[in-house]
Amino acid sequence: MFQHSLISQVEEVLPSVCKKNSEEVLEGRNKIIGGSEIGGCPLKAILSKRYPTEPDVPTLWHYLRGHTREVSLDLVHVTIAKRYGWKLTNQVRVYHPQNRGLRVHIDRVYSNGETLEISTQMLIVEEKCSAVIPDTPWDSWIEQLQFQIGLLQHTYPQAEVRGSVYATDLSGAHSDYGVKFSYNDTIYKRLVKKGNMMLKHLLNGTDPLPTESMLCGFCAYKLTHCPKFRQAPQITSDEVMATVEELGEITKQVKTIQKRQKEIKFHLRKMLTSQDQPRFKGKIGEKVVSISRRNGRVTCDLMVLEDQFPDAYAQTRKNGNDYTVVEVI
Ligand code: SF4
Repeated sequence: MFQHSLISQVEEVLPSVCKKNSEEVLEGRNKIIGGSEIGGCPLKAILSKRYPTEPDVPTLWHYLRGHTREVSLDLVHVTIAKRYGWKLTNQVRVYHPQNRGLRVHIDRVYSNGETLEISTQMLIVEEKCSAVIPDTPWDSWIEQLQFQIGLLQHTYPQAEVRGSVYATDLSGAHSDYGVKFSYNDTIYKRLVKKGNMMLKHLLNGTDPLPTESMLCGFCAYKLTHCPKFRQAPQITSDEVMATVEELGEITKQVKTIQKRQKEIKFHLRKMLTSQDQPRFKGKIGEKVVSISRRNGRVTCDLMVLEDQFPDAYAQTRKNGNDYTVVEVI
């Protein structure tokens, strides 16, 4: 015990602890397409099964934090369920009724009946723990939730199934985005089609096409397998390389500063407001601090609009001007 540093021991033990926590979710994952993969890049999902990589320490901590947050929320959800007289079931595994290669693992399902078979109403809660809560849920979160809603609805057609994303960050801020999503036939069928396509590639040992996104920067297969990046031209000019390094470093710093800014705002709000007095405006030193409430943003689900009101969608759709984006991925 005394011969090794604490850090080295933590790093040695962390992978097995995380593996144990996610055993149930990961069971048999090499033969199935799961809900968390449906919303992401198909190539990355298949490669991660074919060539699994060891997650680094920050990623392992991210997993552990997510798990710990989920466990600490157990009592909160039990209390809410009791208050409404609903049944709460954690960790619900659901397969596509005709294809056991498509599977979801749902964090929590509230139901108005003692079992899911006899319930007429269900509410899914998909919990997300991220460093900073995005202003609107990521598309991949919504697609994962829609797939969960779809599979549950398909399995229990007698019920009305809805779902929410519940996101928390490290400072204690939380959001459910003020939306409860409903079953959407078009989205569900599209996701099942995508899942079947991915499954076919998985079983045949072939590669699906990649889908580029902001998450490519974190992809372990970017430079080894992904045609989008592997075939990118290599530039070795010192000046370009130094500029790219600098931009990458600044981008990292901006993210850290934004995260800190959010934490400080949350702390200030806790110090200056209360449940009875949620607003504040006052002079602190030479600065004026204002804490106010604004109306939530009104948004519209474009996929539903296009599916159910195609004429209105076509008439109101506006394309913005193309613009250039510079990113260090
Ligand atoms: S780099 Fe991006 S596009 Fe390529 S496999 Fe990874 S996630 Fe997919």
